[in-house]
Amino acid sequence: MDRDGMKKMKKVILYPLSAIGHMNPMFHVAEALNSKGISITFILTKYNSPNPSSFSTDYSFHFIDDGIAAMETPPSNPVAFLAALNSNSRQPFRDCLESILGSEKGEKSVACLITDPLWVFTRAISEEFGLPRIMLHTSTAADLVILSSPDVLQHDDYPVFPEIIAMVEEVKASSGLICNSYEELEGPSLNTLRQNINIPVFPIGPLHKYSKTSATSSFLLKDKTPIIKWLDNQPPKSVLYVSFGSIATINKAEFEEIACGLANSNQPFLWVIRPDLVHGSENSQLLLEDFEEKVGERGRIVTWAPQQEVLTHTAVGGAFIHGGWNSAMESISEGVPVICMPCLFPDQKTIARHVTDVWRVGLRVDRGGIERGQVEEVIKRLMGDQEIRERLDEFKGTADKCVSHGGSSYESLEKLCSFILSL
Ligand code: UDP
Repeated sequence: MDRDGMKKMKKVILYPLSAIGHMNPMFHVAEALNSKGISITFILTKYNSPNPSSFSTDYSFHFIDDGIAAMETPPSNPVAFLAALNSNSRQPFRDCLESILGSEKGEKSVACLITDPLWVFTRAISEEFGLPRIMLHTSTAADLVILSSPDVLQHDDYPVFPEIIAMVEEVKASSGLICNSYEELEGPSLNTLRQNINIPVFPIGPLHKYSKTSATSSFLLKDKTPIIKWLDNQPPKSVLYVSFGSIATINKAEFEEIACGLANSNQPFLWVIRPDLVHGSENSQLLLEDFEEKVGERGRIVTWAPQQEVLTHTAVGGAFIHGGWNSAMESISEGVPVICMPCLFPDQKTIARHVTDVWRVGLRVDRGGIERGQVEEVIKRLMGDQEIRERLDEFKGTADKCVSHGGSSYESLEKLCSFILSL
C-alpha cells in the first residue's frame, strides 16, 4: 500500500501539558501532521481547555478531569502545580486512553501517542497498551542538551527538581522527539542532543508557521479586531509589543519601573497586562493610575493579545518578552528583534543568552533591580538598531525557507510522518 493510502488509516493521539506555552506548540504539531493526512485525536485536560470549534473539524477531542478547578489558578508555585497536575491526571488519562483504544475494534489505526515529557506518568500507561510514544519538547534543543548532560546538577541556572529529572528520563525512554527548532538555528545543539538521548530527533520548527493563529487565543480573547485596527493605524515597524507570556509574574516595583520606562521611551507600544501579571494583585491594570492618560493613543493595554498575528503585523518593530521559547521563536523567526527579561524558568536565561550572544538578534535586561531609565534606554537601543534588524531579515528568510518545500524542517516533517507510519 502506498504512503497516502496508509496515512488515511493512521491517527495519532496528542496529549499536551495544559499550560498555554505547551499547548500552543502541540496544536501546531497537530496542524503540521494533519496537513500530511494524519488524523488527530486530542486528549485535553479541563483546565485551560480550548473550544474544539477553533480547530479543524476532523479532529476529535476527549476531555479529562484534572481536578484543577479546585486549585489556585494560575499557579503561584508552578512546580507544585505541575506535580498536582501530574498526580490528578494519571488515572483519568489512563481511562480515557483505554476507552479510545477500546473503540478501535481491532483496527489498530492509532500509530502513537504524542505527548509532553512533563507529563511524567505516561510511560507505564502507554506500555500497558503497547502504544509507542513520541515527545514534544517545547523549549530549545540547547535547553534539553543541558538537562540531559551528566553535569546538569552543577549548572548554576538550572535548579533541578524531580519532575525535570523525570522529564529527561521520559524523553530518553520514548520512541522519538519533536523539537520546536530547525537545523539552521540550532544545528550543533541538535547533534549533541541526538548523542545524549539516542532516539530520533525531528526538528520541524518554527512550529507556529503551521497555523495562522494560535488556538488558545480564541478562548482567552473575545475579539481581536480592536487590537489589529489599532496596529493598522501605527507607522511601519514603530510598535513595541510587550508580553511576559502566560504565567510569569513580576512584582509591583518592577511593574512600575517598566511602565515608566515605556512611557518615557516615547515609542508606541502594545502591552499585555494579564490580570495576574503583578504578583499578589487581582487586577494588575488597576495599579496603573493615570498611565493611560499620560501615554494617550501611543500606548495600548490589553489583557491578552493575538500574539502570532501581532508579531507578523507590519507595524510591530520589536518585542519585549520574558524569554519563553514560543514567544522568542514567534518573534525572531518573523523578523522581530527582542528584549529578553528572563522571569521564571531556567531555560529563559539560556534563551536570553542565545538571543543576545549567539544569534545576536536582541538585547537583555535583568529583572532584579530593573529601573525606568534602563528600560527606556534598552527600548531606544533596540528600536534603533539597524544591524539587528538586518540580521533578523535573514532569520525570517531562513525560517520561512525551512518550512517550505525542500527546507530542513519540511524534510524533517516528512521523516516524522514516515516514522509515525512505521510504528
Ligand atoms: N500568547 C498569546 N497572547 C498573549 C501572550 C502569550 O497568544 O497575550 C501566546 C504566545 O504566542 C505563546 C504562548 O502564549 O505561544 C506563551 O508561550 P511562551 O513559551 O512564550 O511563554 P510561557 O507562557 O510558556 O511562559
